[in-house]
Amino acid sequence: MRDVLTVCCYCGCGCGLYLHVRDDRVVGSSPSRNHPVSRNNLCVRGWNAHGFIHDAGRLTEPLVRRNGRLRPATWDEALQITADALARVVHEHGPDAVGVVASAKCTNEENYLLQKFARAVLGTNNIDHCARL
Ligand code: SF4
Repeated sequence: MRDVLTVCCYCGCGCGLYLHVRDDRVVGSSPSRNHPVSRNNLCVRGWNAHGFIHDAGRLTEPLVRRNGRLRPATWDEALQITADALARVVHEHGPDAVGVVASAKCTNEENYLLQKFARAVLGTNNIDHCARL
């Protein structure tokens, strides 16, 4: 078993935790005793922070709904469909008809770019972040 010190990605608190790795698979998580934020504590999400990593239901490729069923698509195809749909809604109903929800699993830089995309490209201030919940 190998322990990897990292930061919980579930919310903006940034608790320190160890991921426990066995045979190249993450099999558990536990708090970092000396972490200045969490000081040997984790909430239930942190204790289960490893659960999604190897989950069979995790998305590994873009999916596009066709005739009511989700089917694998290339990134180019999925991005084009998304861009077309966003442009259509903004054109027909105005920029405040759309909104963006960012993720604590993204980096600060990715979240910065997402709010820029919402405000400068889509033209809306409708942007929020799961870490605020
Ligand atoms: S989800 Fe829980 S363990 Fe993870 S950073 Fe937030 S408070 Fe800490």
